Amino acid sequence: MNQPAILQLDNITKVFPHSGSAGDKQQPTKVLDDVSLTLNNGELLGLLGPSGCGKTTLLRIVAGFESISAGTVAIAGKTVCSCSEYLAAEKRQTGMVFQDYALFPHLTVAENIAFGLRHQLKTAKKLFARPDRSKIRQRVGEVLDLVGLQGFERRYPHQLSGGQQQRISLARALAPQPALILLDEPLSNLDVRVRHRLRAEIRAILKAAGISAIFVTHDREEALAISDKIAVMWQGKIEQIGTPESIYLQPATRFVAEFVTQANFLPAVRQGDIWQTEIGSIAAASPSTLGETGELALRPEEITLVPEPNSKFIVRERQFLGREYFYAVEIATGKIIYVRMGLGLAEAIAIGTRVKLVFKSDKPQIFLD
Ligand code: ADP
Ligand code: MG
Repeated sequence: MNQPAILQLDNITKVFPHSGSAGDKQQPTKVLDDVSLTLNNGELLGLLGPSGCGKTTLLRIVAGFESISAGTVAIAGKTVCSCSEYLAAEKRQTGMVFQDYALFPHLTVAENIAFGLRHQLKTAKKLFARPDRSKIRQRVGEVLDLVGLQGFERRYPHQLSGGQQQRISLARALAPQPALILLDEPLSNLDVRVRHRLRAEIRAILKAAGISAIFVTHDREEALAISDKIAVMWQGKIEQIGTPESIYLQPATRFVAEFVTQANFLPAVRQGDIWQTEIGSIAAASPSTLGETGELALRPEEITLVPEPNSKFIVRERQFLGREYFYAVEIATGKIIYVRMGLGLAEAIAIGTRVKLVFKSDKPQIFLD
């Protein structure tokens, strides 16, 4: 018990002196704002957020490639970065995996993996003159085994597929047995089929190695599929941290509901025990001491369409997605409501059909104004 967390971030703030973008007016920009999180031993944390929200900056801070303006970073109980302390990147025991693999093109697979190992042995001063070749060869073999690429030692990166290159770069990161692996959008360069297979494989490899990891992605499905816990980030802040299920089913903020669940939002006004919206009323679950106006969030799969000739709501679009139909329904105010209905739930509804909307949820989520 009482084992320190593998990674503890407390109140990290990062201000760049200027934004670095075109049209820059040399204004300082705060890209991380009071970020705190804990990563426990063996845990896989998905860091999810839209492009530009600060994910890479946060990862670079943990790895030691970037300084901080305020806060502390502790790895395995040891403070590695604060306003007064700073431990160099190569001493932090973190392994990184990048979107573009970053393998050395002129080195073989074995040499690529051994590169990190030799470096570690040197910095740890375990070896002075010559690296122990048989030990290195053995470790290269072990990590190739772990990523399912036994026998690839003599190949060059250009002789491998994108998915294989990414597994080699994971093997290279794992070889020195770091405390923590940091993966920055590792699947973004791969095509959909490989991406789906590899995300399951990466999770299995990390779990087999028993290592803690942060997996950065802007893809909500990817984060939901692979993470033990997800931290949702927006504009330099962490909006919510929780299990994939809790993030999806109980989004804490409007941003999380929108980004992670693609919810529809409708203005809602409270009248006693019900919330009145443009598409009907919903029982209010919480006490009436709360605010009087807000927004009702409904996920597309929480709504069923039922044909109703007198309705003011009209199906404007229908896409067949294999497992389900995806509908766009125009309501009286002209707003579009998105609905997903599984096959077999009902007959497909033709474009132009008038429909009523039936809510399946008995716990509607209201975000108060
Ligand atoms: P993400 O990885 O989530 O897409 P980043 O961490 O790369 O986001 O960037 C967050 C914000 O910080 C962006 O607005 C980006 O332009 C800015 N930024 C990143 N690095 C620098 C830098 N070295 N100097 C100035 N601004 C930067
Ligand atoms: Mg990034």
